[in-house]
Amino acid sequence: MEKLLDVKDLTIDFRTAKGNSAAVRDVSFSLHDGEILCIVGESGSGKSITSLSLMGLLPDNGEVSSGSIRLNGEELVNKTDEELRKIRGNKISMIFQEPMTALNPVFTIGYQIQEPLRIHKGMSKQMAITKSIDLLEQVGIPNPKEKINQYPHELSGGMRQRVMIAMALACEPSLLIADEPTTALDVTIQAQILDIIDDLKEQFGMGVVFVTHDMGVVAEVADRVMVMYAGEVVEVNDVESLFRNPQHPYTQGLLGAVPNVDDETQEMKVIPGSMPSVDDDIPGCRFHPRCPMAMDICKEKKPQLVRSGSENAAVRCWLQEVDTDDSSTVTSSGG
Ligand code: SF4
Ligand code: MG
Repeated sequence: MEKLLDVKDLTIDFRTAKGNSAAVRDVSFSLHDGEILCIVGESGSGKSITSLSLMGLLPDNGEVSSGSIRLNGEELVNKTDEELRKIRGNKISMIFQEPMTALNPVFTIGYQIQEPLRIHKGMSKQMAITKSIDLLEQVGIPNPKEKINQYPHELSGGMRQRVMIAMALACEPSLLIADEPTTALDVTIQAQILDIIDDLKEQFGMGVVFVTHDMGVVAEVADRVMVMYAGEVVEVNDVESLFRNPQHPYTQGLLGAVPNVDDETQEMKVIPGSMPSVDDDIPGCRFHPRCPMAMDICKEKKPQLVRSGSENAAVRCWLQEVDTDDSSTVTSSGG
């Protein structure tokens, strides 16, 4: 199958008070049509920065310093703002945690969904109205004919999130980027939104890059998972294998931090210590100060991302390299 998205050796630098620092280092991954890849990690892992770079939406002090981002074979790194504007909302759409950052408070919901249809798809006003009603229906909004005349503040948080998804889908993008889209919602609404994203993925065959810190959400939506720590990929695998047999101590820690829903007495474990900042220079494995399994080599030599077992799985950890004889360094993971 042809790759929808192919990211290779992506490094993103930020200018900080101490000089240039890499917030994302040599990240490689790919995505196929109809696939949901979850990028997971704590705050500061580089997961959001990675997803923003796909849209060309890095903050002013950040830039892609090396690597490649190809969408259906087309290179996106070094495109002009003008070229990227044509791609955003058309081939690539994004949904965020806070719908109010995407919705304009002074326009009706209908207008905001219809506008991209008229700009990118050249639809007539009437066609765009009909399509906007369809879209609201698809994301489970009741009475869409009336809702198109309402303003964002007239809706609940869950309904606003649905409107943002409808807007993101208006031009039938081939890639949807979702950055913590359900984090601010209560659990019931969260489950409904995840179902909608999954249904729409099936229906439109779009690929989804889903950024989250929540392993419960990963279990719910992911086909494949990429775990990031301090700007680097530390483990990649399909979702079942990752949950059944997490290889990297950081992934094991994240999974240990998921409360067991069947056991209300179980306390939520947290990984001791905190994520280093981008300008902290940590020799060896960047996780070693927090790793319960750290060995001498971990403090001195940096582990590479190596294949582990299947074609789709890779781990960056000395334990893995010690265990397997036939492991080979990978620069691109995922099938
Ligand atoms: Fe822990 Fe060492 Fe593996 Fe890093 S390389 S995760 S410190 S065991
Ligand atoms: Mg974030």
